[in-house]
Amino acid sequence: MGWASRANRENPDSWVRIAATAEVRAIGEILSEKGLTAEAVYEIADNAGGWAAECVAPLFKKAACGQGCSWCCALAVTANAFDIVRAARAIEGLPNRDDVRARVLAAAAREEQDEERRFDAGEWCPLLEVGRCAIYEARPANCIACNAEDVKPCEAFARFRTEGRQVPVGLETGVVNLRINEAIARISDAALLVLTIKMAVALGQRPANDDLAPDDKARAKAASRLRFVPAVAAVLTEGVEHFVTRWLRGGDVFAAYRLTGSTPNIIKGGTAAREG
Ligand code: SF4
Ligand code: SF4
Repeated sequence: MGWASRANRENPDSWVRIAATAEVRAIGEILSEKGLTAEAVYEIADNAGGWAAECVAPLFKKAACGQGCSWCCALAVTANAFDIVRAARAIEGLPNRDDVRARVLAAAAREEQDEERRFDAGEWCPLLEVGRCAIYEARPANCIACNAEDVKPCEAFARFRTEGRQVPVGLETGVVNLRINEAIARISDAALLVLTIKMAVALGQRPANDDLAPDDKARAKAASRLRFVPAVAAVLTEGVEHFVTRWLRGGDVFAAYRLTGSTPNIIKGGTAAREG
């Protein structure tokens, strides 16, 4: 039985706190061992993804979701910096990496021209292959968190997308789902905050003796709600290690991929209006 099953299900806040605290401790250990390196970022990304999967494990017992179910992949996706690094690495490791990479780059170029186009045109996420996510084990936290007890509202939403704009509540079928979503977001945000603080101290941008400097949260948030496909395309184009190294050296590498006012409202992981 996983930690989320054992925790007090009557008080979801308790296990959200447990998860976020454990993640902060794990990130600290990874950074102590590996320093501010690309390897450390990869391990943090895998660790945060593992927590996200464990968060939803109890819920999946009653969810209609699973490999092969993909109506929700009609939604645009928001992701954090770790999701993006993890996804790009997973794509690089695929046997058909060149095909997948080409699809992601082409979709990103179309999305740059018109962010709403993919949803309106009925184009699925470029990582979807014959109804299955090509990087299922490394899919973004918001994809892991997207779940439903009944597939019918998801299908209706994807098939009748114009009218379906009224239906997205079908993807969040209850308070447990929303709590899971919140837990995953808080775990990822905690990891980003710790890494951001370490980076800022290493770069001399803040004193090491403050527990939380005023800019820390803003810096971390800047890497927490990103447009998934264009950001992954950028990492693939530059090369994962080069991109991550530039990030660790203080480059504002995700600036072009933050949610904007024009980001579609129909996205996995919340609305542009809420985040923007
Ligand atoms: S959220 Fe809906 S469409 Fe997505 S995997 Fe679950 S049941 Fe299928
Ligand atoms: S990353 Fe995978 S799970 Fe997420 S929308 Fe794309 S195909 Fe679906």
